[in-house]
Amino acid sequence: MRYVSQIFQPVITIPKNAKVKNTDITCKSQKLLLECGLVRPTSSGFFALLPLARRALDKLETLVKTCVEAAGAQRVTLPALTAAQLWETTGRLADVGSELLTVEDRHKKEYLLAPTHEEAIADLLADVGPLSYKQLPLVLYQINNKYRDEHRPKHGLLRAREFTMLDAYGAHRDTGCAETVYEDMTTAYTRLFERLQLPVYRVPAPTGDMGGTLSHEWQVPASAGEDAISVCPSCSHAALDSTECARCGKETERVNSIEVGHTFILGTRYSGPLKANYIPPSGPPQPLIMSCYGIGITRLLAASLEALSSEKSMRWPRAIAPYSAVIIGPKEGSKEWQHHGEDRVHEVYKRIAQAQDAVIDDRHQLTIGKRLMMADRLGYPTIVVCGRAVLEIPPRYEVHRCLPGSSQEPALVTLEGLIDMLEGEGREKVLEVNKA
Ligand SMILES: [Zn+2]
Repeated sequence: MRYVSQIFQPVITIPKNAKVKNTDITCKSQKLLLECGLVRPTSSGFFALLPLARRALDKLETLVKTCVEAAGAQRVTLPALTAAQLWETTGRLADVGSELLTVEDRHKKEYLLAPTHEEAIADLLADVGPLSYKQLPLVLYQINNKYRDEHRPKHGLLRAREFTMLDAYGAHRDTGCAETVYEDMTTAYTRLFERLQLPVYRVPAPTGDMGGTLSHEWQVPASAGEDAISVCPSCSHAALDSTECARCGKETERVNSIEVGHTFILGTRYSGPLKANYIPPSGPPQPLIMSCYGIGITRLLAASLEALSSEKSMRWPRAIAPYSAVIIGPKEGSKEWQHHGEDRVHEVYKRIAQAQDAVIDDRHQLTIGKRLMMADRLGYPTIVVCGRAVLEIPPRYEVHRCLPGSSQEPALVTLEGLIDMLEGEGREKVLEVNKA
């Protein structure tokens, strides 16, 4: 059994009338994650992810992995350090040099802590190649930490110097083949954001210093966002910059947004200079057409909280909440407690744990009200309270839901009623996975 009292969660309590003047805290995901004890800054732009944040991130990574593998991507892990020489060859060392964290080894060879791996992947494909056209298309992906020496790290996990990314790279024989994979990966992204129940807009984007021929950004509307998009109120079409909807001609609304993903068809921007070639059915080797796909995973976690939470309480996409349910037992010494209070809590836990990951708030010296308030702040999707109604025959439990966008009244249900409720959600989940 898992207990709240055992979770390493260094909560920061700010006295009610205290004048807080912490200009470093600039948005609500940063404030909530820090105050509720999910993350801890170690130095500017670097964070320790504590157990509850780590659980949410594990769930998010699994979801991302499931979605991109359904599109045929295969996982690899490349070193965090890329030889600076490769970036010099593609000309990016000079272009984005100021944002790179670099290190030098004992032989004076220069490396960079990679913010992205186009060069490293192209070099790998060149090294094993040339591939045969029969081996294409090929999509390789990683989920690991990346580095960017931000001039001004801010907004906590939204703009950090170390962050977790999904980065996937496609190798193709021609643009048509690249476009097919691009569509498959677009579907994978769409399914991911549907599972998270997040409003994410895919907008055409300039290719910038990545080079290439086709690009989209994936943006979540949120007031803390440093980007902005124009959204059509009528058909939900979105663009980076326009006052009129390209689809239906209506006037668009400008909203702040957070970029959580990016997709590109790169052409031969990296495969050309790094000589990543393939052998076509006839004729000499040709440079691979490459595509790439990124999702900022730690940023997406923070962006979800930005989009769904209030200033006071975290709200998670149900699929990534650190725990799906918490059970709050009676206060020690109360009438409910004396009538097998703790047995009831354990019975509920055992039944719920078959369907969902639950935790018991065993701080029985605290009132139910106090623990309920803390559970609401943390945003457990389901809160089960063993209150006065556990004395009834059969016992009934108070169920509170903390789901984005819903303000349901608490329900009073029997244990069977509660299990029916949660198993319904379990079935929903299975259907969604099958759809993917
Ligand atoms: Zn429109």
